Amino acid sequence: MKNTVRSLFLDAADVARLVAVIGPEAAIVDLAAQVRLAFARWADFDKSARLASHSARGVIELMPVSDGSQYAFKYVNGHPRNAQHGMPTVMACGLLAEVETGFPLMLADLTLATALRTAATSALAARAMARPGAATMALIGNGAQAEFQVLAFHAMLGVREIAAYDIDPAATARLMRNLAAVPGLAIRRADSVEAALAGADIVSTVTADKTRATILTPDMVRPGMHLNAVGGDCPGKTELHADILRRARIVVEYAPQTRIEGEIQQLPADAPVTELWQVLAGHAPGRAAADEVTVFDSVGFALEDYAALRWLYAAAQAHRAGTAVELVAMPPDPRNLYGWMLAQANGGDAGRPMPRPAAVA
Ligand code: NAD
Repeated sequence: MKNTVRSLFLDAADVARLVAVIGPEAAIVDLAAQVRLAFARWADFDKSARLASHSARGVIELMPVSDGSQYAFKYVNGHPRNAQHGMPTVMACGLLAEVETGFPLMLADLTLATALRTAATSALAARAMARPGAATMALIGNGAQAEFQVLAFHAMLGVREIAAYDIDPAATARLMRNLAAVPGLAIRRADSVEAALAGADIVSTVTADKTRATILTPDMVRPGMHLNAVGGDCPGKTELHADILRRARIVVEYAPQTRIEGEIQQLPADAPVTELWQVLAGHAPGRAAADEVTVFDSVGFALEDYAALRWLYAAAQAHRAGTAVELVAMPPDPRNLYGWMLAQANGGDAGRPMPRPAAVA
């Protein structure tokens, strides 16, 4: 009899089909609820800044987190020039394991889930930070993340008007094409950052360039705007002029990581910032006055990927998606790895059924 302990494997097409069946907006809203729940349990998690390996063209990062019951990690890269090689800027995969035994429950593509959870987290932050009734958004950078940001702000804040700008006009055209059928959403192409910002309540910067860019300068920012700064997420890779930050209320995901990677790398190490969990829990305001400029300095934190992995695992089980695989060796006699290897080589592995690992609650 074959051993019955299996891990779930979700490849990129499995995840894409799953999200298409659920619907991208519904997926973002579901996932945002999971991200919110995870941030509400902030103290339960063993947290650390991600481990980054930098190279001339990009970065590769490992992002672990555990709540003592489940352990999750994501592998993710950021290579802004990858499009020249026909590859995405950001690619990711991740693993969810049970802490009690260390058994890996699921290995999954997280490229799409990264876009979903980033957008969900941006919208969660904006709900607490943007002025009530904010309905227009400037979107600077119209690449892979862009549609997800639009859908999150549409579904979760009621944003109806988007002014989109990208240095590559083809990117804006693709965004407009992809979202043309979304009801209640009007997207206009802007010819410059300034033109995109005219009349915007919210500004999302989602550009990719491995440099200290100044996509937004202080003269462009009006009182009361909420800035959702997504693209600056590595040392030496920023989007906002430092003077904007000096005058704004700043919310970050996990300060020890954001001080290294976020827009606030441009500020002194003790510059005052608030963590998102404090805002979501009502311990700190996301906005104190209507004319305040607020900044969500997003870099992406492991807790969001933990939430994404758990959401994917539950959704895959509900929709019977993915493949059960022998991701790790499971000899019938757990200490006879050698004998198990010989049995595999001989084409058989007389094994005993093993108990299933605990499912995600
Ligand atoms: P992408 O390469 O698919 O798209 C980036 C877009 O930005 C491109 O269309 C490019 O033409 C445009 N762009 C570059 N410089 C610009 C400029 N000066 N003005 C206007 N547009 C400009 O990348 P992506 O996957 O959409 O990711 C965008 C950024 O978001 C990356 O920097 C990535 O590292 C970051 N990111 C952050 C998080 C997070 O959690 N904060 C998550 C995912 C990605």
